[in-house]
Amino acid sequence: MKVSFYGAAREVTGSCILIESQEAKFLIDSGMFQGLNSYEKNLEDFGFDPKEIDFVLLTHAHLDHSGRLPKLLKNGFNGKIYSTKATRDLTEIILKDSANIFEKDLRIPLFNFADVLKTMELFQCFNYEDEIAFKNIKIKLKDAGHILGSTIFEVFLEGKKLVFSGDLGNHNAPIVRDTEFIDSGDIVFTESTYGGKIHEKREKGVLELLNTIKEVIQKDSVLLIPSFSIERTQEILFEINKFVENKEIPFINIFLDSPLAIKATEIYENYKNIFDNEAITLINSGDNIFDFKGFKKTKKIKDSKEILKNHGAKIIIAGSGMCSGGRMPSYIARFGKDRNNVILLNSYQAEGTLGKKLENRERIFINDKEIIIKAKVKKIDSFSSHADSLKLTEWVLKMNPQKVFINHGDEEESLALKKKLEKDIKDVVVPQMKNSYEL
Ligand SMILES: [Zn+2]
Repeated sequence: MKVSFYGAAREVTGSCILIESQEAKFLIDSGMFQGLNSYEKNLEDFGFDPKEIDFVLLTHAHLDHSGRLPKLLKNGFNGKIYSTKATRDLTEIILKDSANIFEKDLRIPLFNFADVLKTMELFQCFNYEDEIAFKNIKIKLKDAGHILGSTIFEVFLEGKKLVFSGDLGNHNAPIVRDTEFIDSGDIVFTESTYGGKIHEKREKGVLELLNTIKEVIQKDSVLLIPSFSIERTQEILFEINKFVENKEIPFINIFLDSPLAIKATEIYENYKNIFDNEAITLINSGDNIFDFKGFKKTKKIKDSKEILKNHGAKIIIAGSGMCSGGRMPSYIARFGKDRNNVILLNSYQAEGTLGKKLENRERIFINDKEIIIKAKVKKIDSFSSHADSLKLTEWVLKMNPQKVFINHGDEEESLALKKKLEKDIKDVVVPQMKNSYEL
């Protein structure tokens, strides 16, 4: 059989691995490229014929893993997309959100709303531990612990066992369960987002969040939390819910102003059966982990205007996580000028984004107007949804594989992980885009 890499090769976006065996041709993910020159890259041909693909294994809903599925279908793919139910539901809201964004763009859209609806019809869903059979190929799903529904795929074919990590979750992440460790694998494909880095302890970030909320209550000011709609927002709500229920903070108004995050939270509420023990224990004790005193969701723009009328201390959670879109930039323009307010970054900020400029204290322009930021800008580094270098290494070595392919990481991160793994495994490869290998 043959493996080829059509995305996320020495970069973090555009995940797409092609396996060609005697039995079938299939993909692991069909993700969108994001960042520099991504518009052109996303419009390019796949490099293989989508008509010949029998099925896609979708590891999770994030756009950089699912975002080219509608294009795959438009270019002739008519097989099945195998995933968990939670992945399907989250993928649907993410793709529809993208179709909406494309509609407002003057350039040729990658896909439209109708393409998304057709894509959703191709999904066939499974639970963790289920076994999928396609001819003589057997596939098992394991929990990756990265976001709700995220999956590690074990694929048994031609006498070999292949393991695909998708994105692996961080230690002690709330709500989702811990990443499953796999006992064995001949050929392992692993992500390497943090292939060379070690995360700070999560508790440090939780304490920082608590202290920052206390600070804005005391100053009667505004806390802005730019947040990714899926997983990060639910995790932050989970932590604030605990502060409120445990009476660690006095009353404060908390607004979630992101239609996508609100929809994602509703989907999370439908899949409590796959939450971790801590979340399930809280729910069984009668607590709604995504709702608490002072919490309001604002779905419409007119509701957002209500937030501005609200006086006193408040927390506003809105997209995007890097302040590069969504409603957060307008809140930064409005509240960033006051030295009593706080902007709390809590995720990786890519080069060129508004979030990165805030982090670096560079000049800020919103809608072509310079905004002099006097608010305090803080950053929490320990809320990552990705495994760090230690966990990735441990996860791979447990399987004692003959060969490891490293993808989904900036080049230096992938090479750092390669160096670590090579102490124990001889054959470790960091493929380039469009590289193929016989297995
Ligand atoms: Zn992801």
